Amino acid sequence: MSVSAMVEVRGVRKSFGAVPVLRGVDLAVGGGTVTCVIGPSGSGKSTLLRCINHLEKIDAGRVEVDGALVGYRESGGKLHELPDRVISRQRAEIGMVFQGFHLFGHMTALRNVMEALRGVRRLSKKDAERRALAALREVGLEEHAESYPRRLSGGQQQRVAIARALAMEPKVLLFDEPTSALDPQLVGEVLAVMKDLARGGLTMVVVTHEIGFAREVADTVVFLDDGRVVESGPPAEVLLAPREPRTQEFLTRVL
Ligand code: ADP
Ligand code: MG
Repeated sequence: MSVSAMVEVRGVRKSFGAVPVLRGVDLAVGGGTVTCVIGPSGSGKSTLLRCINHLEKIDAGRVEVDGALVGYRESGGKLHELPDRVISRQRAEIGMVFQGFHLFGHMTALRNVMEALRGVRRLSKKDAERRALAALREVGLEEHAESYPRRLSGGQQQRVAIARALAMEPKVLLFDEPTSALDPQLVGEVLAVMKDLARGGLTMVVVTHEIGFAREVADTVVFLDDGRVVESGPPAEVLLAPREPRTQEFLTRVL
């Protein structure tokens, strides 16, 4: 694995009760690169993202972001779980965008983006506002800063959610099927914003069924099935010339 990996997942296992969901997952995401994770429903994609930012506690293995263990510190060859406040601080460096946008309905777009800048980053109102406006500009929604979520389309709401994550200047931004809840005609505007961010050098891990996006934007495509990485590599290999029968079978179903 490369020394410069921004995200490094090694041997990660996770079960819910007796059900193994991740069965030893390895993944290395280089700084400034885009990794798209594809795979059937129930294969563990969301769980993998949730393990990366320690929303789920892993059973075995390790996760590092920018060279630091997430959720644990190591001493005497053992891992000790970090206190919640330290984990919160780590989590503030790892952005996440969900399928449902999870915006606060009683706050304007601007307030939604400012919230964590004030509460977590402890920025002054003025600085938070400046940074939030810049983030809204990046997703093309500056003119909607004072709009409430119910006045925005699903695509615009998801772009606000992306701006909210971006404003925190995360080391990596995780996307969990960011366009799956959208009407088809709204998918493009969200993918276009994500493409811009990728071009701008943001490190991204994107769980998606948008194979066209993966083909165009991903540096690495990872095919996850039944809690294991079946195949990973550049899109030209994994999507256009997959080696593994399970990858081939999955792609014929979704394409
Ligand atoms: P994907 O995102 O690829 O569809 P998930 O990571 O959401 O898959 O889920 C993988 C498996 O883990 C599924 O069988 C799901 O039912 C199970 N699972 C996910 N989260 C939980 C949970 N909190 N408790 C119990 N089972 C869960
Ligand atoms: Mg999922």
